Amino acid sequence: MIKLTHRVSKISPSMTLAMSARAAELKAAGEKVINFGVGEPDFNTPAHIIQAAKDAMDKGYTKYVAAAGLPALKKAVCEKLARDNNLEYKPNQIVISNGGKHAILNAVAAVVEEGGEVIIPSPYWLTYPEVVRFFGGVPVYVETTRESGFKMTAEQLEAAITPKTSMLIFNSPCNPTGAVYSEEEIKAIAAVCVKHNICVLSDEMYEKLVYDGQKHYSIAEVSPEMKELTILVNGVSKSYAMTGWRLGYLAAPENVAKAIGSCQSHATSNVNTITQYASVAALEGDQTPMQEMVAAFTARRAKMMEILDGYKAIGIDYVKPEGAFYLMLIVDKFYGKKHGEKLIHGSMDFAMELLAGEKVAATPGVCFGDDSCIRLSYALSMEEMIEGLERIKAFCLSLN
Ligand code: PLP
Repeated sequence: MIKLTHRVSKISPSMTLAMSARAAELKAAGEKVINFGVGEPDFNTPAHIIQAAKDAMDKGYTKYVAAAGLPALKKAVCEKLARDNNLEYKPNQIVISNGGKHAILNAVAAVVEEGGEVIIPSPYWLTYPEVVRFFGGVPVYVETTRESGFKMTAEQLEAAITPKTSMLIFNSPCNPTGAVYSEEEIKAIAAVCVKHNICVLSDEMYEKLVYDGQKHYSIAEVSPEMKELTILVNGVSKSYAMTGWRLGYLAAPENVAKAIGSCQSHATSNVNTITQYASVAALEGDQTPMQEMVAAFTARRAKMMEILDGYKAIGIDYVKPEGAFYLMLIVDKFYGKKHGEKLIHGSMDFAMELLAGEKVAATPGVCFGDDSCIRLSYALSMEEMIEGLERIKAFCLSLN
C-alpha cells in the first residue's frame, strides 16, 4: 500500500459531497430537486467572450505563453485594477492562475511557513483552512456575530494576532455570509495589519456582486503601506459567469509575484491560452451582460428577503446579505425537533432531512464553521427560488 504524506492526510474531504451526491441521485430518479447549493452564476458566459475564444483558436493562439500570464491579459488586469479599484500595479506584479482558487493556493504557499498562523474570520469559505493546513499552517478562526452582520471587528483581529501570525485571509464580499465590509471597517482592519505587519490575502472574487448601493472597497486602497502587505486575489469566474474557464489572478508586491510566477512555471505553466484571450475580452469588452446578471441577482435577493421576512413568525431567520449570491438562513430553532423519526441535531441533519423530505438541497453551515445556519444560494431561477422557499417553510412546519 502506498503511504500518504502527512501533508495530504491533513486535508478533509468536502463535507458537501454526501449532500450533492444524494441530490444527484434524487434528480436521476426523476424527482424535482430545487438546488440552493449552487456556487456559480446560472448564466452563460456572455457571447462576445465566447467569440474571443473562438477567434483566438482560429488565429492559432493555441501555444504556450509566459507562465505568469499573457502580457495582454496582465495589462488588462492592471487597467481593471486602476479603473475599478484605484490601484496602480505593473504587469510584473500580476500572476494569472487557474482560477481564484489556484491564486489563493499560490499566495499561501508563498507566505505561510510551517506552524504559521493564518487568521480566518468565521463563517469562512471552506477552502481556506484546507489550503492553510496543506502548507503546514494553522488556521485561527475569529468568530463573528449575527449582530455585526458576520463581520470581524478591528479589535477582534488585534486580539487574535500572536508572534506566529503570518497572514489574514479577508473576503469581502463574503462567501458564505454575503457580508460586505464598508470603507471605514476596512480602514480599521488595515490599521491593525499595518501596525503588526500582517500580510493580507484579500479575496475579492465577488467584487461585482454588491447590492443596495454598496461599493466594493479593496483593502489595498487604504494606503501604500497596506498595499505593500496585500496579495489581492480576483478573477473572472463569478463576475463574468466563467467558472468553467478557470481563470483567476493575483496582484502583489513585485518580489511576491516573482516568486509565485517561478513556482507556477514548474507546477502548471500558463493558464489555458484560449481562456486568457477570452478573459481579455471579459475585462476590456462590453460590461452590459455582467450588469444584467447583477440586476437579476439584485431582484432575486430582494424577493428572497421579502419572502423570508414573512417566515420569522415560524422561527426562520436570516442575516441580511449585502453581496455575493448567498444568504445564511438561521435554522437552529429547529434543532432538537424531529422529522418523522429522525432527530435533527445540527445543520447537516437539517439539510439532509430537508433534501429527503422536500427535495430541497442547501449547504449545511457546519461546512463554513457555523452550525446554526444553512447557506442558500440564489443562483437559480426566480420561480424555482420561490417554490424552494415554500418547501423550506413546509419542512419547518412539519417538524415536531
Ligand atoms: N474565493 C471564494 C470566496 C469563492 O467562493 C470561490 C469559488 O467558489 C473562489 C475564491 C474560487 O473561484 P475560482 O472558481 O475562480 O477558482
